[in-house]
Amino acid sequence: MTEVKPLKYQSLEGFSERQLKEHHDVLYAGYCAKVDDIRTKFKDADTSQANAISSRWRGLSVELTFALNAVKLHEAYFANLGGNGQPDGDMLTFIEQDFGSVEDYRYNLMGCARVARGWAVTAYDLDDNRVYNFCCDAHNQGDIWNAIPLVVLDVYEHAYFLDYGTDRKSYLESFWKNIDFGYVNSRIAEFELIKRRSQLKAA
Ligand code: FE
Repeated sequence: MTEVKPLKYQSLEGFSERQLKEHHDVLYAGYCAKVDDIRTKFKDADTSQANAISSRWRGLSVELTFALNAVKLHEAYFANLGGNGQPDGDMLTFIEQDFGSVEDYRYNLMGCARVARGWAVTAYDLDDNRVYNFCCDAHNQGDIWNAIPLVVLDVYEHAYFLDYGTDRKSYLESFWKNIDFGYVNSRIAEFELIKRRSQLKAA
């Protein structure tokens, strides 16, 4: 069973209770159930008729990437909210080294968020050893391998339509104000990214 992780906060400034509840309890929880459903269906699917156009195996395989990435991205999204939107600590170091300043980082992230159809993601690319903002048009389109997501921003309309209608810009401002950079820093620590960067610089 794919566990539905609870929200770590009751409310967020700029997000109504209904918006958060629909997004977390219905949409995200729904994706958790879909992951389990698809994995169960694999048990009675076979590859004898598998092909790249019209086969059950293909349908399950493609939709598993959609549902599973939806779970992962939503968990990261809800987890990186609940803070005060002030970058500090290790993330501030990465921002200053890779983007120049907080304003430059914010400008770049928000640009990405305005053009994406699904997600804007700040991730540490383990190959380039730096942080980038990536634009994803769907849960399973635009995701970058071998990169650690640090800030994950849902820009699907369902993330803000109840509160903001089509006004994505105002939603993005609310998102920024609530980013939990303490959580982001815990991700950097978990994957020892500061150590990784300093070792590679010294080598
Ligand atoms: Fe969403």
